[in-house]
Amino acid sequence: MKLISFDDYQIGVLTDENKVIEITELLPNLPEELRSFRMLTLIERWDTLQPLIKEHIKSKQPVDLDSVNLIAPVPAPRKVYAQPSNYKAHSEEMQASPWSGSAPQISSEQGMFLKASSSVSGPNDPILLPYSDRVIHHESELVMIMGKGGSMIPAEQALDHVFGYTCGLDMTVRGPEDRSKRKSFDSFAPIGSYIITADEISDPQSLEINLWVNEELRQHAFTKDMIVDCKNQIANMSWVARMEPGDLIFTGTPEGVGPVAPGDLVTINISEVGELSARAKARY
Ligand code: MN
Repeated sequence: MKLISFDDYQIGVLTDENKVIEITELLPNLPEELRSFRMLTLIERWDTLQPLIKEHIKSKQPVDLDSVNLIAPVPAPRKVYAQPSNYKAHSEEMQASPWSGSAPQISSEQGMFLKASSSVSGPNDPILLPYSDRVIHHESELVMIMGKGGSMIPAEQALDHVFGYTCGLDMTVRGPEDRSKRKSFDSFAPIGSYIITADEISDPQSLEINLWVNEELRQHAFTKDMIVDCKNQIANMSWVARMEPGDLIFTGTPEGVGPVAPGDLVTINISEVGELSARAKARY
């Protein structure tokens, strides 16, 4: 099933014909100020809600996708985990870059980092570039959305904890500061355009990632080449910080990262998962 968030945090199902059926009315009423957490409620109650949703969409008239404003499918995750330098060829390109420190860029040793959850944005939001005189890169990444939470989740059970997948851009200012600053600017974590539920993805390590800036193909890779695979990322990260429903995991970027300038259209496509485009804009 494909799930979207749209307009004022409403929730919908995207049909095979690319139309939208709203399902917000099936969810518990949340106070106005908590409506951005609706998708988290859906994820937490998925076992109960899924049969109701399947029944509901049979009888409802869909509306055109064009008639809604897509927002980030998980607009307000509690946490955004990310895996650094998780493809060998990307580690090597970073090691050879002027931004590399002296420490080796080995994903399994670096473990994880966190992006501010407020950096999450959606397919119709601009990527706001904060500097005119710094290099800002796109990083195309498969994003996991956690379903059942937990701490110290064993790798063998980890994929049972995944609610779904989406496309993500881990936008990054290159430079000497800590990752959590360079990757946490507002709009530096575009995700979408929808969540595809985990039952539709047979193997997250068998996907193909492509990223274009305008018409130029910049990144082309396969998730089988991750250094730390999806299930071990969940095991390692949940050993540190307890996972909660709706938490996002950016699984690392392959080689081919490059600069983004105001006006650029950045498009990521992941086979079986979907596609996301976002346009860069100066905020300076
Ligand atoms: Mn990254």
